[in-house]
Amino acid sequence: MGQRIVKQEINEAVKLYNAQDHEEAVKKWNHVLRKTSNCQLKFQTLGHLANASSDLGKYRDMLVYAIQQIDIANERENTYMRAEAYLNLARGNERIGEYHKAVSYARHSLQNQAKDPRTHGHVYLTMSNAYFGFSNFSKCLENLDNALRVANEHGDIVLRIETYFSVARFFTTLKDYNKAVQFLDKCKELSVSIEVPDLVQKYLRLTSVHLSIPYRELGHYNEAMEKCEDALKSAMEKNDRPVQAKCLHSFAEIHKKLHDFEKAYPRYEAALNIMVETGDRYGQMEVLIGRADAMMLGNNVKKSLELYGKALEMAQALRCKYQVYHIHRVLEGIYEQQGDFDAAYQEKLCYTPMIDELEVRCEVCEKMMGIVPEPLDTLLCNHLFHAKCANFLRKREELDPRRPSQILCPRCRINSCKTDQATPS
Ligand SMILES: [Zn+2]
Ligand SMILES: [Zn+2]
Repeated sequence: MGQRIVKQEINEAVKLYNAQDHEEAVKKWNHVLRKTSNCQLKFQTLGHLANASSDLGKYRDMLVYAIQQIDIANERENTYMRAEAYLNLARGNERIGEYHKAVSYARHSLQNQAKDPRTHGHVYLTMSNAYFGFSNFSKCLENLDNALRVANEHGDIVLRIETYFSVARFFTTLKDYNKAVQFLDKCKELSVSIEVPDLVQKYLRLTSVHLSIPYRELGHYNEAMEKCEDALKSAMEKNDRPVQAKCLHSFAEIHKKLHDFEKAYPRYEAALNIMVETGDRYGQMEVLIGRADAMMLGNNVKKSLELYGKALEMAQALRCKYQVYHIHRVLEGIYEQQGDFDAAYQEKLCYTPMIDELEVRCEVCEKMMGIVPEPLDTLLCNHLFHAKCANFLRKREELDPRRPSQILCPRCRINSCKTDQATPS
């Protein structure tokens, strides 16, 4: 094939992709790949294929394309190509829960100059998601700040939305649901301002499914259900497997909250099946935790303990320390309820040493964060506090004329003069 025809075919596939006809786009790009021997065009096509695979939840395919990109980049000793190829490799690994590999490849990407300055913004976001995976929260927030800085500098709306999704997931996990909603409302506004009309639908559907989580936790079940229905309808139309799985999981959680276990169980099962198919291990762990909790609420203690055991194994395999800690805490409660105080004490022994490492105890009031829903806040150093405790620090320093407008972080002793870095602006 001549280069002109190849370029034309690549662009036609991009149009199909933007119209969210992913399957057809993939077919066309694969055709290009077989027909062309031009390295540049091959590399470009592999990049499109990696992105499309990510959207379709075919994370293992994504890794295969990224590795082929790295081969081309190394053959040509091209730093631009390396920056992009390592980003794709990092992303694919992050999606399947290989967080250490993801961080390592992300670092490789940052060491190479990128052609598009926004590439490194996406690298920071991938790094942040990987740090979230193994519960290094301050590194997670630090990289979210970096991603947001690049997004704002270069007016990258998609990067901003995706960064806010991660911020919302962070605060949802630590039970500051109102803050999560605040960020997701911003995502909704930003989604409709995307210039490629067909991408608007994609980001609105992602926003909806993300919103259903804090909504249901805040007890807004009807709104949560509506958001999930909207997202699932759109995800079914576009064969968006990752969002389908998220919706089914969220439906299951809503039914569980409403104590309708007969509706919850098959939805957990369906979500889990899709996540096994895509390789989303973090999602599988969350579904197992949800199912275990549903079993407990339905008074099936034996089954609940069995599922928590499986979830714990998965959390340990992922090295997701926060969920390991969380599961031990829940198990402590179950054993106490059952009157098995020895077993409860054993669980306490497992999670207590993790509290300091996870930095989930507020350094101001010494109380735990993430146990009950309450507002949280960060200082400039990205350390987390209760919002009221961060305010207390601010007020205290304002009263101290020796340190005007400086807030000394009690955890790292760094001067933080600003708060709430990731607040939407
Ligand atoms: Zn506090
Ligand atoms: Zn600090």
